[in-house]
Amino acid sequence: MESSSIIHKTASDLRLAPNLGDYEAERRVFSWAAVSRELADQPQGALNIAWQAVDRHAASSLRGKAAFRILARGTPTHFVTYGQLSALTNRFCNVLRDLGVGKGERLFILAGRIPELYIAILGSLKNGTAVSPLFSAFGPDPIATRVNLGEGAVLVTTDMLFERKIAKWRDRMPSLKHVLLVAEDGGTTAVPGTLDLSSLMASASDACEITPTTAEDMALLHFTSGTTGTPKGAVHVHGAVLTHWSTGRYALDLHVDDIYWCTADPGWVTGTSYGVIAPLLHGVTSIVDREEFDAERWYAILQDEGVSIWYTAPTAIRMLMKAGADIAKKYAFPRLRFAASVGEPLNPEAVWWGKQVLGLPFHDNWWQTETGGIMIANTPAFDIKPGSMGRPLPGVEAAIVSRQADGSVQVIEAPNKEGELALKRGWPSMFRGYLNSEERYRKSFSGEWYLTGDLARRDADGYYWFVGRADDVIKSAGHLIGPFEVESALMEHPAVAEAAVIGKPDPIAGEVVKAFVSLNNGFEQSEALRMALLGHARTRLGAAVAPKEIAFLTQLPRTRSGKIMRRLLKARELGLPEGDTSTLEAGP
Ligand code: ATP
Ligand code: MG
Repeated sequence: MESSSIIHKTASDLRLAPNLGDYEAERRVFSWAAVSRELADQPQGALNIAWQAVDRHAASSLRGKAAFRILARGTPTHFVTYGQLSALTNRFCNVLRDLGVGKGERLFILAGRIPELYIAILGSLKNGTAVSPLFSAFGPDPIATRVNLGEGAVLVTTDMLFERKIAKWRDRMPSLKHVLLVAEDGGTTAVPGTLDLSSLMASASDACEITPTTAEDMALLHFTSGTTGTPKGAVHVHGAVLTHWSTGRYALDLHVDDIYWCTADPGWVTGTSYGVIAPLLHGVTSIVDREEFDAERWYAILQDEGVSIWYTAPTAIRMLMKAGADIAKKYAFPRLRFAASVGEPLNPEAVWWGKQVLGLPFHDNWWQTETGGIMIANTPAFDIKPGSMGRPLPGVEAAIVSRQADGSVQVIEAPNKEGELALKRGWPSMFRGYLNSEERYRKSFSGEWYLTGDLARRDADGYYWFVGRADDVIKSAGHLIGPFEVESALMEHPAVAEAAVIGKPDPIAGEVVKAFVSLNNGFEQSEALRMALLGHARTRLGAAVAPKEIAFLTQLPRTRSGKIMRRLLKARELGLPEGDTSTLEAGP
């Protein structure tokens, strides 16, 4: 949906000169080779994410600076400096070596956002061991499926999680050679068949020569959110660090003195690329909150920690909106200078809400597990058109294409035409495979284009507008309807907190639009409200596109990464099997 209003950049919005000043000019001169030169030269010509992120700074004036401030209810803030992080990740790397775990093997982590999670991710990378962080809320099945798919040799988890989710199921993960446990009470563990991580760390050396890795060596395994089907395992390499660095610079505008908060858990690719790697590459201090979402708590963190750059997701923004602006008014955010969002389309309402309540608009950006880093973004360098995901970053070539019957694609040059969003091969963080699924990997490319599976439009100014996932688009009486447009219109109504629409089979129209909505605090479900919403949508969208049916739900089903699962609403509506629900967030 193209909003007529634009949020213009003004000099007073920018308290610091942005890293990306002139978008067009930077795109013209940009090269990945130049980014490579910006990163420090690593010994032996190697390229390792952890060395670039940590050791380089530990050897500089940033040594004593906090890399992480880890917050948890009822305990004092836990600070980890760059120097400490370097030594601790060296120790972890040595722990793996002492166990005989080497380059190319895979390590899984199942833990909340505790210090050991960050140490294990980076320590593993130093050893050339590929790492896959999992959501700690996963149950035994999703854990075993992923460990088996990734042939995990090592699992790092806590004593409590082990007892609840692994102990009885360990036989189902035959590739696992070692389980390293962290005691949740901060002490040591003595569980048969496992090793106590704190003891191993205590006896390991804190000096370590990093295993020489190259840009093409496997670094991270990330599973997709499972929004459209069974989650896929995407393979990423050390060379991705170039994208992490450049996107941290251009899309998040990280400056070394920033206090940065990425609210994503490392169990989702955002929480690793932008909750761990990109901020460290830029030498900033990151806030990590171990607790779950809580509106009051989040505003207090933004205020009390002096957050200057905030990266969050539409689902969280909608929850803050639902909690009401009055809570926000109790807090002040004078240090906040840039807010960004990823994961789902960001409704124009939410962009404006940011401006009204936080004092600055949200900058939507787009990417996927497969792309490894941000590809399209609203940056500080240009005006925001609320509802648009922005423009391709320097180094990223995007296009709208249509797939042809012979498997080739045709680029659609004309503006404002819908088609599939495609990216030209060659950005460093491109995934290098789907685990166990070569055929699927091959099919996601056509010639020089990677096909994203998302439908979008590009306007005459080069801004991209999300239409919907190819799987979610509705065909009704000859119209192609993108769910996002309908959902955004519903969200404009003051009663609506969240909306999801699906196509429901219909003998005449092919499909009709059905909407599911949850309501803001202070609104009650009623027939009158349903009629009012139907009327509102018809006025905003016209009868052909507006929903024919609206149902109320107290909460919409979503993935652990916060995405609304339309396929589940559809399966339930049609009485079909629910399919893979491993990433479904537990209901209220
Ligand atoms: P699966 O591939 O298993 O169905 P998923 O695609 O949701 O899951 P992710 O890789 O976590 O898994 O999510 C990427 C997708 O999220 C994108 O392809 C897009 O559909 C959606 N997305 C991310 N950011 C945005 C955005 N800013 N606007 C619109 N959609 C977005
Ligand atoms: Mg996907």
